[in-house]
Amino acid sequence: MEHKIRFSGKYGPLEKKLGLVYNIMLNTYDFRKAVTSMSLTVIRSVAPRSPAHRAGIRVGETLTHVNGKQIVDVLDYKFYTYEPRLEVTLLAPDGTTRSVKVRKMEGEDLGLDFETYLMDRARSCANNCIFCFVDQLPPGMRKTLYFKDDDARLSFLMGNYITLTNLSDREVQRIIDLRVSPVNISVHTTDRDLRAQMLGHKNAGRGIDIMERLAQARITMNCQIVSCPGVNDGAALEKTMKDLAAMHPAVNSVSIVPVGVTKFREGLYPLQPYTREQAAAVLDQVEAFGRECKEKLGSTLFWCSDEFYLLAGRPMPEEEYFEEFTQLDNGVGMLRLLNSEFKRALELMEPEEMEGTVPFSIATGLSAAPFLEELVAMAHEKSAHVQGKVYPIVNHFFGETITVAGLVTGGDLIAQLKGKVLGERLLIPANMLRSGERVFLDDVTMDDVERELGIPVIPVAQDGYELLDAMVGIHCGAPAFGGPNLPEDEYYRYNPGVRG
Ligand code: SF4
Repeated sequence: MEHKIRFSGKYGPLEKKLGLVYNIMLNTYDFRKAVTSMSLTVIRSVAPRSPAHRAGIRVGETLTHVNGKQIVDVLDYKFYTYEPRLEVTLLAPDGTTRSVKVRKMEGEDLGLDFETYLMDRARSCANNCIFCFVDQLPPGMRKTLYFKDDDARLSFLMGNYITLTNLSDREVQRIIDLRVSPVNISVHTTDRDLRAQMLGHKNAGRGIDIMERLAQARITMNCQIVSCPGVNDGAALEKTMKDLAAMHPAVNSVSIVPVGVTKFREGLYPLQPYTREQAAAVLDQVEAFGRECKEKLGSTLFWCSDEFYLLAGRPMPEEEYFEEFTQLDNGVGMLRLLNSEFKRALELMEPEEMEGTVPFSIATGLSAAPFLEELVAMAHEKSAHVQGKVYPIVNHFFGETITVAGLVTGGDLIAQLKGKVLGERLLIPANMLRSGERVFLDDVTMDDVERELGIPVIPVAQDGYELLDAMVGIHCGAPAFGGPNLPEDEYYRYNPGVRG
């Protein structure tokens, strides 16, 4: 997964004025929290030749203030170190304090690294959502998978979605003052009572008030609705779409994704997955509302995720429908984009380049399998040398109602592919793996799968060009591993000792 730095980093005169308001607020900041947080602003490294290094800032010192402003977390750090002239206050391990002057380019990073990326503990969620996927995980998985984060700072910095239920007024004001935007919000419904019920939090309705406040302050919001049959769809969804459209342009995009229901729902709210007919009804409703928005507001604004189209057995809309593909992270337009990229890649590839293709297989979830078969057929049509077979994998690990590729486990791959004709390599979507690792969700490794199936396994990113290359054997030796999975990696950093 790509992680974007979303902090705006632009501080005009207005923002600077608002910064003064923020300073007043900081002076009334909860002291106990500040002391706790401060321990996480201990400097762990100073980048060589950085402004901090030139100023003689040392590892082990604690950053307490910049230009007189208390530094509580990464947002403070980024905001207050933007200026070219800084007075940095440091607390030494022996309890003495000192101040150093730093001169640097405006916006240049000071060059400090801290105990945790957030410079604070990650905040877990205060909810008990009826649809929570974490509650539906089987027991005995890695501890990190059970961590429920709902931290506004991770929303700004990494694009995580938040519910706003654990946000204090002070923090709402800070979003406005610092102009951090966009904020990614899990809305689910704008009916305050229903939201409280769905999120299992009596004050969840206040989140809608916060959204209205953010909209007035012109903070951009991308929203997500997890749609649960008979709960927040139908009339409730209509109301939600109307309310959110009224907040446009602050509300910039909204995705509607179907609830995931695993076989581990014992003792939880009785939710059922969407049927084909129900999925089609949601699509009709959202597309009709989207057409109105396009006409009145210039943007479709509301998009159902690909999974809804797959569930309803409908073709994906064309590329233009998705506008800027703002909701790709929520699986909106992902398959259409893959298809378009694949076609373009195919046009650019000479038939001779495909002559050396050896037989291969692709494993994916049930829902995307027909889609991938279509791509293999397209490649085969261009060159008969392309011989690939797609295997839809039934999800026995989480339950057969889970059909997305990203939740297919190594154990299911081995059990369902052993003894099958797989060709000379097996391609899998890279998102089956824990990001940055060669490990599936069930802790089975790629090495295990390769050993059991007797062929190399090639993870392929969600990219049509890369998929075609992998089919024809280009760059097959370079699996799509990027850097570490930041959220998980961050989790380990906030929770030292958990790994293992
Ligand atoms: S906000 Fe809801 S869905 Fe998300 S982790 Fe918390 S309980 Fe689960």
